[in-house]
Amino acid sequence: MARNICIGFTNSVGNTPLIAIESLSAATGCTILGKAEFLNPGGSVKDRAALYMVLEAEKAGLLKKGGTIVEGTAGNTGIGLTLVANARGYRSVIVMPSNQSTEKIELLRTLGAEVELTNPAPFSSPENYYHVAKKRAEGLENAFWANQFENIANSEAHYRTTAPEIWQQSGGELDGVVMASGTGGTIGGVTAYLKEQNAAIATYLIDPTGSGLYSYLTTGEFKAEGSSITEGIGINRATANFNRARLDGAFQGTDQQVIEMAQYLLKHDGLFVGSSAALNVVGAVKLARKLGKGHTIATILCDGGGRYQSRMYNPEWLAEKGLTPIAKGLEFLDD
Ligand code: PMP
Repeated sequence: MARNICIGFTNSVGNTPLIAIESLSAATGCTILGKAEFLNPGGSVKDRAALYMVLEAEKAGLLKKGGTIVEGTAGNTGIGLTLVANARGYRSVIVMPSNQSTEKIELLRTLGAEVELTNPAPFSSPENYYHVAKKRAEGLENAFWANQFENIANSEAHYRTTAPEIWQQSGGELDGVVMASGTGGTIGGVTAYLKEQNAAIATYLIDPTGSGLYSYLTTGEFKAEGSSITEGIGINRATANFNRARLDGAFQGTDQQVIEMAQYLLKHDGLFVGSSAALNVVGAVKLARKLGKGHTIATILCDGGGRYQSRMYNPEWLAEKGLTPIAKGLEFLDD
């Protein structure tokens, strides 16, 4: 018998299952597929980008032995980077806005990251975590700023791994793909690759309220209204990674739809997912309804629900936000 061993923990990133979500497939008459990225070692889709950015930085000589990886992140990229940093002998300094879930902040500290919290501030402010991270890296010797927004190694990870996996796992029988965007890495890499395989695949963005990408794609201008409980997604500018995306259209999803879908997946399918994953599945049902019965649609289950127990899965927190799941079926998706 030949041995089948993964050399080092970081090599276990990727190759996640593509799950047919049975309840939604039955309800829509389509096949709804979710790429189970919460099964990555760091628990999210960002492990792929984290690993690839580090490997590329090593190759380019930007990251040297004993160096420090610095990044501004909503949390998941920081978790992935810190695990990779530990495994490859680096320090990690993670700059994140203080309004992210305590689960992510505590986890980063437990993993060994030096965490710096910033006041939530718009991108135009020097207090925004992106600019603070850049400055922190400039002030440290032998430091590498990962810069996941503009570093193309981020979307390249998805172009080279996530997308080919989806293509192969679906046997090339794929009619649509839909997902939200944070840095744009996943949507940029996945849609670019899938359009090259088959230009007829319908590629869609699902944008949370408070993000400007929906208006950018539909009117050409960034306009963001309101806010969202979703974490890690939504942005008000086009990043280099997002600019790789090849998109046919865009949907919007509300917080109410996110929390209803999260409960629906948990109760009907035993799928315990985070807020962006729930929004992505909302997008998958919207695309299924648009394309009609008999189609196959894939989306990304970015991370798991454990990171949001104190928030999206906490009835008191939801009530404070004026959000309570009430739906019995999928009526919350009726426009
Ligand atoms: N979901 C979650 C929970 C995330 O942390 C992120 C990354 N910010 C995304 C989705 C979006 O991924 P990307 O950065 O590739 O657009």
